[in-house]
Amino acid sequence: MTEDSVVWLEEVGKEDIAIVGGKGASLGEMLRAELPVPTGFAVTAQAFRRFIDENGINDELFSSLDVDVDDADILRSAEKKAKQIIMAAKIPQDIEKSIRSKYKELCKKEGEEVFVAVRSSATAEDLPDASFAGQQDTFLNMRGEQNVIDAVKKCWASLYGARAIYYRVKQGFDHSKVNLCAVVQMMVEAEKAGVMFSSHPSTGEPFTIIEGSWGLGETVVSGSVSPDYYLVDKKTKTIKERRIATKNVMHTKDPKTGKTMDIPVPADKKNAKVLDDNEILKLVDFGDVLEDLYGIPQDIEWAIKNKEIFILQSRPITTIKKKKETNEKVATTAILEGLGASPGIAYGEAKLVSDASELGKVKEGDILVAVMTTPDMVPAMKRAAAIVTDEGGLTCHAAIVSRELGCPAVVGTRRATMVLTDGMKITIDGEKGLVFEGKKEVAVPAAAQPEKTSVTFARSKPITATEVKVNVSIPEATARALETQADGVGLLRIEHMILGLPKHPKQYIKEGKADEYVAELVSRIQTVVDAFYPKPVWVRTLDAPTDEFRAMEGGDGEPIEPNPMLGFRGIRRDLIDTEHFELEVRAFKELIKRGYNNMGIMIPLVQHPSELRRAKEFMTERGIDFGKTEIGIMVEIPAAALIIDQFLAEGLDFVSFGTNDLTQYTLAVDRNNEHVAHLYNELHPAIMKLIEHVIIECNKVGVKTSICGQAGSNPKVAKRLVELGITSISANIDAVEAVRDMVARTELQLLLKGAREKK
Ligand code: PEP
Ligand code: MG
Repeated sequence: MTEDSVVWLEEVGKEDIAIVGGKGASLGEMLRAELPVPTGFAVTAQAFRRFIDENGINDELFSSLDVDVDDADILRSAEKKAKQIIMAAKIPQDIEKSIRSKYKELCKKEGEEVFVAVRSSATAEDLPDASFAGQQDTFLNMRGEQNVIDAVKKCWASLYGARAIYYRVKQGFDHSKVNLCAVVQMMVEAEKAGVMFSSHPSTGEPFTIIEGSWGLGETVVSGSVSPDYYLVDKKTKTIKERRIATKNVMHTKDPKTGKTMDIPVPADKKNAKVLDDNEILKLVDFGDVLEDLYGIPQDIEWAIKNKEIFILQSRPITTIKKKKETNEKVATTAILEGLGASPGIAYGEAKLVSDASELGKVKEGDILVAVMTTPDMVPAMKRAAAIVTDEGGLTCHAAIVSRELGCPAVVGTRRATMVLTDGMKITIDGEKGLVFEGKKEVAVPAAAQPEKTSVTFARSKPITATEVKVNVSIPEATARALETQADGVGLLRIEHMILGLPKHPKQYIKEGKADEYVAELVSRIQTVVDAFYPKPVWVRTLDAPTDEFRAMEGGDGEPIEPNPMLGFRGIRRDLIDTEHFELEVRAFKELIKRGYNNMGIMIPLVQHPSELRRAKEFMTERGIDFGKTEIGIMVEIPAAALIIDQFLAEGLDFVSFGTNDLTQYTLAVDRNNEHVAHLYNELHPAIMKLIEHVIIECNKVGVKTSICGQAGSNPKVAKRLVELGITSISANIDAVEAVRDMVARTELQLLLKGAREKK
């Protein structure tokens, strides 16, 4: 035990958790055992406590944390306030002096100003072994006395991050009893690094597993690279398996700034093995020493520099223990509730993604958790077993894309990114909109069980007079969409294709690469019109809200709007930004030239017939012949529904109800706002009244009617629309079959009714 506020790691050991937290104690213990751990010092939990006491901020700090943590906004302001209090307070002079002098000593030993990592190691006064892993922040590659001092303070402040506050409240910890030790440790400029399990992580068998890649270990820990895999029999010390992966990215330190950055792995190293046999066996030996030291199998982070091995961290493998003692945690009550946006049950590890740089974390079968998904997340969404978001309604990006991918999703939970932590095992019910901790046994409905091969009946598709089509937004969903045997595509959203491009359309134009942009559009649209040929595909002109476009590279010119849903989107945007409309038209013309006469063009968000007139003129002047190519509008603003006769007078082949927008504009309910999601009702009588009026008017003049909003995927709505005389219904991939069955049944009922009435 030590009374000092700042101690060398060599001076502490496993009995000092109350002073330096679990991480500090473990590092000290390893150094005592003469393991090659990078040296450093710890600013103790008691130093942190003195910092609070001597600044007299106790009351102010802890009362600022006394809030309703279930209210995300309140929680975030509590975080902000608490962090401000910490950052404004002064570190007691003797503690600051001690940090400076220990850092100087480290530099003296190395003969230069060294880079260090400042890591948090939390501890609870009355429960010293409580784990707060992953709740606080780490600051890598800090150099210079003042930067180290600042990082220690920031590390302390991170004890009051929203997630940490939430966790402590829910786990029943008193904030004032939790202290934080900041560990300041030399950075290892690793040439290669990775993780090692001293015994098999799920079975506990005597096999050591090593994963490694080039550069710093963050790529392996975060999962942003597929690492090499080595399996070693601990007893015989024989290497049983070597799987050499293609490693594309490495994390390394920029020698000038000291910041870590991602660089491509040099060509000759991409497919080269990271570890030679000697290194593998040396690591296995370290694994054995650590397992003996702690008495249980260890999960170890290692690094190699100049052929020297370093052990960066070691902690017990919890997965084996869990399996043996309790098996899987069995879920009972939901920990989160949201909107069931895409049906299905999934179980897996939560992976929190705050931006595209973290997508590598999401491995096949993981559950992607985000505030809201963005188009650049689609590759990770494809790997994910399920998706959970804080924000959004049933027609938000996450909802639309996950339905197309057939991936269960719960959106609008408000707090998923706060309640869930990386690696937490959870079950998602995408139908009911629930998230459970652990595995929830759910009876699989008989219809969803795989059919036995010996009794396979190909389910025949009912023929319906009302066409049943499918919606497509991402070209990757084409194969699944085709499998539905739909009668065509009632909505192809091209903005999702554009948002999936590496840069904003304006950037292509700026770089003189408009042709490249048009070619991208053509190829993506062609994937769908070709797959469905000769069935009709209604391609919609651009309808992207500015907030989504702004996030793209080169998208900073997008206007910042108070309410993007009522702003610069749909046809109003194309009629102003004609430079872009022009490129869309070039893509359409190219597809027509290639013989895709099944393509129709659909205009979104019209509110006045003049918009339709001008759009048609624009396209006609550029060579599109609406005698040969079908043209239609989306009816998604109440104004368009109310004066549909005036639109019909402009000349139209079809109209399609965009009920996602029609609902939000008719009911004044933002479709992406989870706070008013309970008022979002596509079956509201006012909406049905608008739809009925449009169908009647269109049927009078023989113009086709359809629906491509989410409501069309509801069989009950489909039934009503068939009764009203709609020409086609376009549903989500997962809903096509149920809608088609309902359409067939309704048509038969109408026929039967007609026949009975005649008698
Ligand atoms: C709609 O508004 O119903 C629609 C289909 O268009 P989006 O969801 O793309 O706005
Ligand atoms: Mg719409």
